[in-house]
Amino acid sequence: MAGKAARIIAFILICVLITGFRASKDEYNAAHTDPGEHIEKTALVSDSKGADPIPASPGSLQKVITTEIDMGNYSDLDSGKRNWGVVLNQVEKQPEIPEEIRRLLGRYNAWYAANPDVPVLYLIFSASYDNENMSRILDALKLRNVKAVFYLVGDFVRAYPELVARIIQDGHAIGNHSSSHRCLPLVSDELLFREVVEYHDYVKTRFNYEMRYFMPPSGEYSEKVLALAAEMGYITQFWSFAYKDFDPSVRRGADYAFSKVIQHLHNGSFLFLHTVSFDNADAIGRTLDFCLQRGYTFDLFLPPSR
Ligand SMILES: [Zn+2]
Repeated sequence: MAGKAARIIAFILICVLITGFRASKDEYNAAHTDPGEHIEKTALVSDSKGADPIPASPGSLQKVITTEIDMGNYSDLDSGKRNWGVVLNQVEKQPEIPEEIRRLLGRYNAWYAANPDVPVLYLIFSASYDNENMSRILDALKLRNVKAVFYLVGDFVRAYPELVARIIQDGHAIGNHSSSHRCLPLVSDELLFREVVEYHDYVKTRFNYEMRYFMPPSGEYSEKVLALAAEMGYITQFWSFAYKDFDPSVRRGADYAFSKVIQHLHNGSFLFLHTVSFDNADAIGRTLDFCLQRGYTFDLFLPPSR
């Protein structure tokens, strides 16, 4: 009997393991859509050596952003579309990424996580529009003096200038998420210039604010896109954590959002959330408190200097 019981327990354990594995595969494959028809394919990335000092390109320490760009310089660069994604780890480890991607990122001052040995988290939000959750999230951040990067598209910036002003006033960073959230690897060089370079100048003129961070819409990128951002002096960010939180009509509750985030905490995490999620807005205060109590701090990312 004891042998039979042991076999049953072993069988159950195997089922649990397989189910767990499938769940993380599903997450890996989950396409995630930005509000407003934007599709962000979540192939989350990670790496055991961490984003640890990937050799920074000379542009990484550039203090000044330039928009004097000759798109002719990019005609020979690979414009093949790639989708960012990582397999989320259940344990407190950064996700792994293939060596080839790691090298590509390193060449263009692009990052998806920071030092894996230091308990710092880097919050990243993106927004294409607002549904009154942005203010609630900003309140929660302010209360705890936590700073984040807000990737805003042109539609948001034009529609909610008062929120943009508050984000800047509260000491957060605004990141370039392109003017209209197109799939940048697929657009013409001329449109790429307008989406990224001219948009930079628009924000600078309108808000007297110089963006320093760039995230390609939907995590869809190419070598050309990365090279352009690097030449401008941007720090490109992808993410080491994200989940399907981009459709505000899908509400699973604050507990769900909270547990999603805390399950995958790891040192140096680029923790990516959409502001339109009611679940995120409901959970954010509790989530931040949990992270702080666990000994994490929050910061704005800067590439390590060498
Ligand atoms: Zn987006």
